[in-house]
Amino acid sequence: MKTVMKFGGTSVGDGTRIKHVARLIKAHVDAGHNTVVVTSAIGDTTDLLLDTARKASTSGNPDNIKKIIAELRTTHHKAIRDAFNSTIETSSAIEVIKEINSRLEEVEKALIGICYLGELTARSVDFISSFGERLAAPILSGALRTVGLNSKSFTGDEAGIVTTKDYGNALPLERTYSQVKERLGHLVEDWVPVVSGFIARCEDDTVTTLGRGGSDFTASIIGAAIGADEIWLWKDVPGIMTADPGVVPVARTLPTISYIEAMEMSYFGAKVLHPRAIEPAIRHGIPVRVKNTFQPESEGTLVVGEEEKRRDVVKAVSVINDVALINVSGAGMIGHIGVAARIFTALAEAGVNIMMISQGSSEANISLVVDDKHLDSAVRAIQTDFKNGIVRDITSDEKISVIGIVGSGMAGVPGVAGRTFNALGRAHINVIMISQGSSQHNISFAVAKDQSHDAVRALHREFELDKIKI
Ligand code: ADP
Ligand code: ASP
Ligand code: MG
Repeated sequence: MKTVMKFGGTSVGDGTRIKHVARLIKAHVDAGHNTVVVTSAIGDTTDLLLDTARKASTSGNPDNIKKIIAELRTTHHKAIRDAFNSTIETSSAIEVIKEINSRLEEVEKALIGICYLGELTARSVDFISSFGERLAAPILSGALRTVGLNSKSFTGDEAGIVTTKDYGNALPLERTYSQVKERLGHLVEDWVPVVSGFIARCEDDTVTTLGRGGSDFTASIIGAAIGADEIWLWKDVPGIMTADPGVVPVARTLPTISYIEAMEMSYFGAKVLHPRAIEPAIRHGIPVRVKNTFQPESEGTLVVGEEEKRRDVVKAVSVINDVALINVSGAGMIGHIGVAARIFTALAEAGVNIMMISQGSSEANISLVVDDKHLDSAVRAIQTDFKNGIVRDITSDEKISVIGIVGSGMAGVPGVAGRTFNALGRAHINVIMISQGSSQHNISFAVAKDQSHDAVRALHREFELDKIKI
């Protein structure tokens, strides 16, 4: 079997964990499976890099940079020693340490540049944040060599991933698939390539990233490119669950889920999968397994194209917090043709993604939910486009969350919306805005941010997801 295995940040959180991961991969390869490994950055390295870059751009003081680089050097050197089991420096450890040091020098210089310029562009954010994965891949690859596998490391770019120029959310160009196949397709028969997740390069040769949590996406792109039989995503949870276990402690692991359900869940905030991670797998119908690194014997969740109809109407509840509501109103909008279309166009031109939309039947009001980081540009775009008075008021609210309930079994089943809103009413949760996709695989609605977790728990209870048949 040909597999791609991706390990998340917690799974490779330190040297001991990397050693554990190396043994897992070794057992899998020894069982006869050709394997490409994709790794995330160690622990929260990406957050640390982003935070350092932001501080550097505003403080103009390089002292913090020196401190953080020293911290990263210590954690990564320790990870090497623990993962390679070397109290004395073996030649393979020394080689990897050299590589890590040179990458740390590179990121330090870039951070100092940002500090003196006092400017942080989307392009430099991607360059800086790419270093987490660039540091991790040589270490995991070295750990695989110490357990006796042939392994070399690649950046996403070296593996063949070339993307659009959308820094922070880049998408693979079509030729990625043939390039990755060319570079890794045969190699995988004798080698275990370790590819840094999350990062790539665009056509004009600058570093891009695939969005936070993007290593899942890298794994799926590589899986589709090499025609993998399965893509395994190793995480710190038992699989895809009926809700975030941090919010709902009684959440259960779903043994199977369809591609579309998994996509909708991640779209509505279930951080367990990158929202685009399933798309490349769908191209070739490749099953995706989500497994727990720390309980490798458990089955985890299998994400597949078609699933037999289950009795469960609703499978999962998720919440997305980084959103804002915009209300556009004005009596002049009543009967005025094309207002919604103009709003869509203005927002599309400003690069704003609309997550939800609803229009009151009086037509005097349109509500939209957008990413909170796009709020200012969204409001500005609508203001500029409607200078002529049709729109009287544009208000916004950042203190909202969107809840999504997902399950393909709800298509055509009457009463799901009724049960949902009754349960919320009983829990004294006010629904600010509602939308149901025409696919009927989800119902989503906005509530006040400080009630979002209560809403998730109320719905988990209402649909008895803690008793879901496993
Ligand atoms: P990775 O280790 O691959 O980076 P993530 O940290 O991105 O994994 O995703 C796992 C996290 O997603 C969990 O720690 C959990 O808190 C969160 N999560 C949110 N919703 C769900 C869900 N429905 N099922 C499982 N985990 C979820
Ligand atoms: N390291 C990146 C992040 O923290 C990508 C990933 O972990 O998948 O977002
Ligand atoms: Mg992740």
